[in-house]
Amino acid sequence: MKRAKISGRTEVYQTRAFDIAREQFGMETELRRAIETGAMTLHFQPICDLATGRITSFEALARWTNEEGHKLSPNDFIPVAEEAGLIVPLGRWAMDAAARTLAQWDARAGGECGVKIAVNLSAIQLQRDNVPMMVKSALDAHRIDGHRLTLELTESAIVTDPDRITQTMKALKDLGATVAMDDFGTGYSNLAYLQRLPIDLLKIDRSFVTGMLADRDKIAIVRAILSLAQALGKQTTAEGIETNELAQTLAALGCTYGQGFLYARPLEAEDAYRLLSEPYI
Ligand code: C2E
Ligand code: MG
Ligand code: MG
Ligand code: MG
Repeated sequence: MKRAKISGRTEVYQTRAFDIAREQFGMETELRRAIETGAMTLHFQPICDLATGRITSFEALARWTNEEGHKLSPNDFIPVAEEAGLIVPLGRWAMDAAARTLAQWDARAGGECGVKIAVNLSAIQLQRDNVPMMVKSALDAHRIDGHRLTLELTESAIVTDPDRITQTMKALKDLGATVAMDDFGTGYSNLAYLQRLPIDLLKIDRSFVTGMLADRDKIAIVRAILSLAQALGKQTTAEGIETNELAQTLAALGCTYGQGFLYARPLEAEDAYRLLSEPYI
């Protein structure tokens, strides 16, 4: 009896593991096709100057609707792309599409449209691709000045290969780009890197911002990050701002920029461009 139960349970687990493996395999195949056929899109979320409410940039965020019509989250398909060796083509596509969109906005505005574009770089992509060369060729292809670009890296990129990342960041700075540390405070790296690496901006992770007004610990962490950034001469962006109170408090605490559903969700390029004609939100 007992044994049957145990083996029954084992079987259930095996089936589940098999399903997950198969699902992942299907996802890989579809993802490869989506990148090759241009079925992926970018959405754009505004980042505002907290003191004035002016939009200063847009973060480009990958979106994928699979062949069954399901909208998949980048939190799910980016890790699959990394495991399947697809993060390099996906990352190249995202950089190129972001530069192309910015060039289109400039063309419509009849000159530089007044915002920067922020592109995410995965740790694995940074290890496997020549990212500075890749970025430069996307900028050149669309005649975009490097000063118009922010690159968002995570702490995991530093942990993986500190020497390589130092060279990469320097090369990105040489192109004129802004280097941002994304999801700041959630990684496992030590803080010494802030001294050594050419980082311009810290993006305070949403997990510290959400619910911060009712949580002494969170607000203490946010204050500490802001004063650290100030002392080191770095700019700051708070992620996940969903209420006016949060925006006002963060502005009063000296945070430079804000991003979140209060201002706008990630938007299609057309809707993002429309926001630019009324740049104070
Ligand atoms: P991230 O770079 O930290 O991007 C911010 C995420 O927070 C986005 O999720 C955005 O939609 C979400 N967000 C912004 N404001 C709010 C808010 O007020 N409330 C809440 N609840 N969420 C908010 P998204 O688009 O699902 O992207 C998730 C992550 O996937 C990104 O986190 C980034 O790490 C990664 N990702 C997205 N696109 C790319 C890409 O093209 N390349 C790479 N390497 N990673 C990407
Ligand atoms: Mg980001
Ligand atoms: Mg982030
Ligand atoms: Mg995040």
